[in-house]
This record gives sequence, structure tokens and C-alpha cells, in this order.
Amino acid sequence: MSAYQSLKEECYEANLLLPHHRLIDLTFGNVSVADHARGMFAIKPSGVDYDHLQAADMVVVETDSGAVLEGTMRYSSDTPTHRRLYQALGKEAGAVVHTHSRNAVAWAQAGTAIPCLGTTHADYFYGEVPVTRPMTAGEIGGGQYEWETGNVIVERLAQLKPVPISAILVCGHGPFVWGGGGKKAVENALALEIIAEIALKTIQIRQESSTISRALLDKHYLRKHGAGAYYGQVTDHPE
Ligand SMILES: [Zn+2]
Repeated sequence: MSAYQSLKEECYEANLLLPHHRLIDLTFGNVSVADHARGMFAIKPSGVDYDHLQAADMVVVETDSGAVLEGTMRYSSDTPTHRRLYQALGKEAGAVVHTHSRNAVAWAQAGTAIPCLGTTHADYFYGEVPVTRPMTAGEIGGGQYEWETGNVIVERLAQLKPVPISAILVCGHGPFVWGGGGKKAVENALALEIIAEIALKTIQIRQESSTISRALLDKHYLRKHGAGAYYGQVTDHPE
């Protein structure tokens, strides 16, 4: 049995949740799951159909070096972005999800952060879901495109500190989302897609819809996150 068996299984199961929740079309999506104590993460192989995916196919990568520790298939082409995020976020990101879910991508393509228009959003995200700046031609064409994608995310996160962030839109591309583990990160990606759709509809109904008050945002976010959380069962809070 592989020394990375449980990591690969968690990664495999989280990847299967993407088609289950209809968060992906074709093969546009991937989940990685980190083992920060061992300085590594497992990620989906590149371009493999979800119907044929197996736990054994997951590729294990060293976070610092990018070296493949185990796996015979080519890793997801987005692997350098995941690696950059793990380096920057540390234990805050136990797993990273990238999808091209349609409504979140629509906001990313508009280059527009998703405003917090209601409590559904505030239950998951503390204020607007940010968007990166557009990438430069040098960043796109310099041979390190996926790594540079990670860098523009990290740059935007640094500007927003210390606001807790678990989802961001890469301008013109799509969402990257993280969470304490594989399941939680996918749940956040699903929540993002839902609130992206709801926000879009809200603005279609009334373009000048306003964001919710700070009091309502705090109430809904903080009852589920952080030291004062009281929503749900105690074991619901792995983060
Ligand atoms: Zn992508």
C-alpha cells in the first residue's frame, strides 16, 4: 500500500464531488488535498475523465520543490497554482479547489468581485468574493503561467489582509477556493457557485441592489466561523 494512501483517497473522493455537485463541465476542474505536516499534497491527474478516475491515479507532489513523490500520470496543469497557494496560505488551506463553474466564471470574466447581497453569501464568505487584477502578457507568456496565476491570487489576498478569505476569482478565468479539508473546500466551491448565481439574479431584478449591513454580515459569518461560532453541531467546525 502507498505511504500516501489516505491522502490520495481524500483527494480522489473530493474530486468526485465536483461532478456530483455539477460544478464542472468536461474536465475543467481539480481538487488537491494537502498534508502540511509532511510538506506535500495530492492532486488529480491532468485531463482524466471523472468516470475513469481512480484513487491510485492521484499524483503526490512536494509543496516546496514541486517534485513528484508518487504517481505515474501527469499532474493537473493547474498544479503550480495549487502549490503557490499552499505555500502562501499554509494550514489555512487544507485543500484547494479549482472549477469553471458557470456563474462564478461569469463574474470572473466580468472582472467583478461578487458583492455580498444577502445572508446566504454571508454564511460562507465574509464580504465580497474578491477578484484578481488581469494578468500581464509577461505573466501569461513567460513560461510560468500557472505559477503566476497563483502569484496574482497571493497579491490580491495580501491587499485584503486580515479579512478571512476562502474563495477568489481569477480575472478572466475562474474561481480558486479552499477549506480545511477536501470535503469542506468543495462545499465552499459549491456555496460560491450558488451565491454567484443568486447575486447575478438579484442584480438582474434590481441593478442597484445594495449589499447587506455590516451587522447582518457579522451576524451570519461569525456565528459559523471563528472563536464565537455557535451554528450547528460542535463537530461541524473543522476550521
Ligand atoms: Zn482553469
